[in-house]
Amino acid sequence: MVRDIVCGMGVEEDDPSTFVKSLEGKTYYFCSDQCMLPFMRAPDDYIKTKGKETEMVKDLVCGMEVDENNPPFTSVNKGKIYYFCSNSCKREFERNPKKYLK
Ligand SMILES: [Zn+2]
Ligand SMILES: [Zn+2]
Repeated sequence: MVRDIVCGMGVEEDDPSTFVKSLEGKTYYFCSDQCMLPFMRAPDDYIKTKGKETEMVKDLVCGMEVDENNPPFTSVNKGKIYYFCSNSCKREFERNPKKYLK
């Protein structure tokens, strides 16, 4: 079972009715041509830049991983940027940065 990255539906890789498209050495599966066509038109919109292209940074307060390119909350301390998952983590950090900066 694989996921149609356009509609999110689960599709069977070996089902003859599944639409298959290879792109940059990767294979993508679609439930219908209605899903495959928009993907072929703008694959980047559907291929999430997960893995090495996305830098994950750690929220120092709760330890959660936060996407550096799209952080929910940031705080600057002594010229360095810190990333937080929520406003409460950010506030906790700003209240006592020494506790989190080693
Ligand atoms: Zn679909
Ligand atoms: Zn957090």
